[in-house]
Amino acid sequence: MIKKFIRKILGVKNKSDPASANKKPTVLGPKEHGIDPGLVSANAIRITQTLQENGFKAFVVGGAVRDLLTGVKPKDFDIATNATPEQVKRLFRRAFIIGRRFQIVHVMFGQDLLEVTTFRGAATDGAPKDEHGRVLRDNTFGEQHEDAARRDFTVNAMYYDPASQTVLDYHGGMKDIKKKTLRIIGVPEARYREDPVRMLRVVRFAAKLQFDIDAATRAPIPVMAPLINNVPAARVFDEMLKLLTSGHAMACLQQLRKEGLHHGLMPLLDVVLEQPLGEKFVTLALANTDERVQQGKGVSPGFLFASLLWHQVVEKWEAYKAAGEFPIPALHLAADDVLNTQTDALAIQRKIGSDMRDIWAMQPRFDKRVGKTPYKMLEHPRLRAGYDFLLLRCASGEIDEEIGEWWTDFMEGDSAERERLINSKPKTAASEAGPKKRKPRRRAPRKAAAAAE
Ligand code: ATP
Ligand code: MG
Repeated sequence: MIKKFIRKILGVKNKSDPASANKKPTVLGPKEHGIDPGLVSANAIRITQTLQENGFKAFVVGGAVRDLLTGVKPKDFDIATNATPEQVKRLFRRAFIIGRRFQIVHVMFGQDLLEVTTFRGAATDGAPKDEHGRVLRDNTFGEQHEDAARRDFTVNAMYYDPASQTVLDYHGGMKDIKKKTLRIIGVPEARYREDPVRMLRVVRFAAKLQFDIDAATRAPIPVMAPLINNVPAARVFDEMLKLLTSGHAMACLQQLRKEGLHHGLMPLLDVVLEQPLGEKFVTLALANTDERVQQGKGVSPGFLFASLLWHQVVEKWEAYKAAGEFPIPALHLAADDVLNTQTDALAIQRKIGSDMRDIWAMQPRFDKRVGKTPYKMLEHPRLRAGYDFLLLRCASGEIDEEIGEWWTDFMEGDSAERERLINSKPKTAASEAGPKKRKPRRRAPRKAAAAAE
């Protein structure tokens, strides 16, 4: 009581002590929250119901509740419960405990996968940290109010119970949803220090939801941005991938720049946002990606990163060619350079890296529109990706539109049409040097080179 009084006159909110903060949630009924029960996944309801029937608490949580409250159909449903992973696993036929440090349970119904997480404790004070204050392990179970306090933003810390159709709101998330504001829970500096990735998350949510970032939540970002350097590269990569496939990639990148988050943090972003040559190309690639996501189509990370880094590859490709390399080995050397520099700060997974290389390596082969080569290309397992990439190069003005049109006709045409197209193409297009040909030759003019000037 006295403590509370002193806090009150000092204007100190419980915020600074997340463990004791906001223990009692505001309970919102259907009229207040307005969630359309029809948007809630039947499988999420099955899980919460089963857990509740067995005496546990269980809620839909996080991004799904935020999306439901904004009237958007959530792309996935996470469940939070006070049951331990072992207890959860026992209740479902296809349930798998994942993770060693902090275990969660994957519950499967057919193709549908739902994550069930046990409430986490908020005892970050005792948790092991790196020298910059980043929490390395945070794996204690806890009470629901502690679980709420360790979530990132107020709008992400609400719990929906499908049975009673109530929302439990611990940090004023509903008010912030109405105000379209992103507000970090607790003291912003401390929360970014614990986990710098939250700075990237706030940017992603702001761009995706078209919410404002609360002034106090925003203020420390430019100063604290360099802390992202200490986050393991694989985690930054995962977050970047989420950002780029959010359906609002361009808006996210612009917002990152606005918040001073792109500079020097991730080579990829420096390259993408500050390279005048590729701007048109990248803009088109991201617009394409956003459109695909918004239409519910899949996006290949390999294609996406291949696009973002293409002009860096082109630049190096030209340099190797100017130094006397043949075009194809020059392209491979350029790809190696770009992938190697990138991997240090933003670990591109091996599979994605190899997809990128395939897409790049296919590009000079589209120039060869004579003999059997185009037919061989038709059998290439990545033809579609390589062709889409070629079209982007055409659309950005890097190469002649005519090449893309030729390939469209060739791919769509019947055998007579294909024959006609091959015969209509002058032989000069066969420009690439094979490794066996040792004689120096005059290089056919390459349109790709024009873009690197
Ligand atoms: P999305 O629509 O992108 O899935 P999301 O809010 O569901 O958004 P997730 O990464 O799926 O994002 O995380 C689920 C929930 O877990 C979040 O809503 C938030 O409550 C919590 N969370 C995730 N990452 C963090 C973090 N770095 N710090 C604190 N809480 C986090
Ligand atoms: Mg989610």
